[in-house]
Amino acid sequence: MKSLVSLLAFATAVPLAAQSVDTAGAGRLIDQAMNRSEVMGNLQHLSDVLGPRLSGSPAMRRANEWTAGRFKAYGLTAALEPYQFGVKWERGPASLRLIAPFSRALTAHSWAWTEGTGGKTLAGQVVLADLSTPESLAVNRGKVKGAWVLPRAAYPVWNPDGPEMTADDSTRRAEQLRLRGLATADTSAAAVAARRQFTVDLPYILKAAGALGTLVDGGKEHALMTMSGSPNRVSPLPNVVISNEDYALLARLIAAGVKPRLEGRIENRLGNQPVQQWNTVGEIRGSEWPGQEVILGAHLDSWDLGTGVTDNGTGSMVVLEAARVIARSGLKPKRTIRFVLFSGEEQGLLGSRAYAEAHAATADSIQAVLVLDNGTGAITGQALQGRKDLEGLWKQLLAPVASLNADSVREASKSGTDHLSFLPYGVPGFNFDQLRRGYNHTHHSQSDTYDKAVEGDLKQAAAVMAVTAYQLANLPELLPRGPKSPVVPVPSRPSPGLAVGP
Ligand SMILES: [Zn+2]
Repeated sequence: MKSLVSLLAFATAVPLAAQSVDTAGAGRLIDQAMNRSEVMGNLQHLSDVLGPRLSGSPAMRRANEWTAGRFKAYGLTAALEPYQFGVKWERGPASLRLIAPFSRALTAHSWAWTEGTGGKTLAGQVVLADLSTPESLAVNRGKVKGAWVLPRAAYPVWNPDGPEMTADDSTRRAEQLRLRGLATADTSAAAVAARRQFTVDLPYILKAAGALGTLVDGGKEHALMTMSGSPNRVSPLPNVVISNEDYALLARLIAAGVKPRLEGRIENRLGNQPVQQWNTVGEIRGSEWPGQEVILGAHLDSWDLGTGVTDNGTGSMVVLEAARVIARSGLKPKRTIRFVLFSGEEQGLLGSRAYAEAHAATADSIQAVLVLDNGTGAITGQALQGRKDLEGLWKQLLAPVASLNADSVREASKSGTDHLSFLPYGVPGFNFDQLRRGYNHTHHSQSDTYDKAVEGDLKQAAAVMAVTAYQLANLPELLPRGPKSPVVPVPSRPSPGLAVGP
């Protein structure tokens, strides 16, 4: 039935060649964005003053309220839309120390949504045990008792000083997938679901087998960390990220027959009841078709080792700035433009999934969703996300920003951010291409701080988002829908028999 609906949408939509983009107004929007910008002041307040915005934390709520206030100050209506998030997690102190073959403190941070050491300091040997599949776990399960576990070999660190390129670097991604054995893995829905369930189950299996904790390779150069975690993948034993240098040191010692030992004490707090979170939604009501809308989106939440600037203070403050630019320009879009600052993105697109589900009944009235989430870099253009039929349209939409070098249109499908949540509903969804600007260093690391923001790039990005959103709001017709597909549930609970509690 769903596929029939989408076929009809394709069949009855006005051919795109007949829809010409009205570029009048672009000049005013670009002038407002480039010459009267407030993006840096807003970004500094968000990152330096409100700080990192871990979903579920008080800072996340403060950021929701502050951004709603900013939208209102710019003349928009704004509201917080709630959704069920999952359990809270609070980071406590963590200390991890190498105690053999020599003594040295390691820089270590708890992976999010993992337990601590239960008020104890846990000392044990470090073992390397490939735990990447049920088969390798079966072979190595006997090694983990009383040990801190490296679950895979150290990654070689990708050279980050290569040429400037967009953040969607397919070569690097392909190499990571190859190293994780996923490049050749079965991609059937059942196999993907089984792999996800295995990652949920694994820490429970390791705890039952007597492991002290697991270690994560920071995977970056010069002791930069990376951070992730989700209430959908709670770990009942500590999981701790350490630098690539230290991870590789431990792996080398083991390979050389030296038995390294660690002691660790970690104090995290994991909630036991699901809590609400909120997306901040600002709105400029359409003058002719208020029931139809263009969505500009970015996630307001962040990881908490830095202050969440390039991921994604920049994107969310550019969306706020695009709202200011359109409102202050005096232009009146024909369709409603909604500016949605999602939370829960870092835990698995939870806020945008909830938003798309809550608005599913009116998904056919969403003209398009445009997301910005690849760092501080200037927008270079658009990736078509499987919508080759919209190539000509995107070239028209970006023509007014050609002078800002934002007019590339390429066939690529980008992963990992909030536009994905809308695709199953047939909504055209896109994530702009951007210059890299060191995103591979700052992403999820302690160096994701305000000094990395590039002012000229953020002004440019706000101009591009405002111009494209305004033009889409004024197109004569709604865009043809993409193919609709079922929303795939994310496994969040361990398999029966494993959840015995910490
Ligand atoms: Zn992000």
